Amino acid sequence: MTSRNEQLFESAKKHIPGGVNSPVRAFGSVGGTPRFFKKGAGAYVWDADDKQYIDYVGSWGPLILGHAHPAVIDAVVNTAKNGMSFGAPTEGEVELADLLCQMLPSLEQVRLVSSGTEATMSAIRLARGFTGRDKLVKFEGCYHGHADSLLVKAGSGLLTFGNPSSAGVPAAVAADTVVLPYNDVAALEALFAANGSEIAAIIVEPIAGNMNMVQPSAEFVAAMRNLTTQHGAVLIYDEVMTGFRVGLHCTQGLHGITPDLTCLGKVVGGGMPLAAFGGRADIMAHLAPLGPVYQAGTLSGNPVAVAAGLATLAEISKPGFFENLSAKTAKFVAGLNKIGADHGLCAQSVGGMFGVYFSETVPTSFADVMASDRAKFNAFFHAMLDLGVYLAPSAFEAGFVSAAHTDADIEATLAAATMALRTVAVA
Ligand code: PMP
Repeated sequence: MTSRNEQLFESAKKHIPGGVNSPVRAFGSVGGTPRFFKKGAGAYVWDADDKQYIDYVGSWGPLILGHAHPAVIDAVVNTAKNGMSFGAPTEGEVELADLLCQMLPSLEQVRLVSSGTEATMSAIRLARGFTGRDKLVKFEGCYHGHADSLLVKAGSGLLTFGNPSSAGVPAAVAADTVVLPYNDVAALEALFAANGSEIAAIIVEPIAGNMNMVQPSAEFVAAMRNLTTQHGAVLIYDEVMTGFRVGLHCTQGLHGITPDLTCLGKVVGGGMPLAAFGGRADIMAHLAPLGPVYQAGTLSGNPVAVAAGLATLAEISKPGFFENLSAKTAKFVAGLNKIGADHGLCAQSVGGMFGVYFSETVPTSFADVMASDRAKFNAFFHAMLDLGVYLAPSAFEAGFVSAAHTDADIEATLAAATMALRTVAVA
């Protein structure tokens, strides 16, 4: 019998390319039928066939409080009653900007946008406008949204579909993007020694999460900060995924680094379309209407999205929030490492973000991630799905634990993983 998920996927393909509104949702990497969700509550989601799952995707990161958190839902409903959008300033956006600048010392000014892609695209234009230079440095396997200059050797869905660069990006645009290996200090030093005066910016995922999770070395972090400062380039931390996910002060707080510009998204909007970019006031002063770098948005600072963001940030700022989330995620990862050791599986976490790999050791580069066993991951993914655990449908994505996951959820997930690994061993 055809399931409702299968029926919906067939119908979806008629008028939606590939049946989805964002590529990785199509299960292209793992195969099978995507689940169509109709409800979420806390750590759980229910699909169109009423099957329940423990969710470790959390809408790809935003839902740090879990699904339908009462404080967020109340804020959204109450705000929406007063109107959905004005396209004019509101008090809420001032409050959010003040709060973000207070939570992240590197932010002196911040502008709200509607997606992570808009945040990174705008930050790069601003860095180029500020420096008067064109060249952009990014790292292999990092994904920064789908703006043209960033779709060169990128991660996330591009890896799922086996082509790290997109068609439709003019060669002239790609030519200004220099791609280096993540964690390769020597390559970075050589590039700046040869071309330092032409480089507008480095954009980096300070903990990468779009080639699965990869952590930077302390030397790499320091080299990025030092070289950009020495050569007058802008250091852009793309914390769209890591922002308010790895800690209350984001990756920059953990690393003790002050980037020139920061991009935020996901958690900052609490599940609504909201993102932000901000940083040094002298750089932000180049933005319209103050300066010559243009950037705008009909729905920028949308009051309903801002309300969801404010409610989420209030919850995560409560004492002990990150200690609890980090401890719970670390416990989950320790459990995975214990049961996975004999099956070539390992895992790591920072805050509420984790990576699971079918490789002997935790990867530290794009090449390491590419060498992991994808066939095993795919078998594991489907076995977990059958057992009611929803992981990201790709070996190249990080996972997320929310505050709503209980110890019992974690234990149930580890029990499922024990069974799923037996399937993998047989496959
Ligand atoms: N930067 C990073 C680090 C991301 O993880 C993502 C999305 N996964 C983006 C940018 C793009 O954000 P959005 O999908 O909201 O455009």
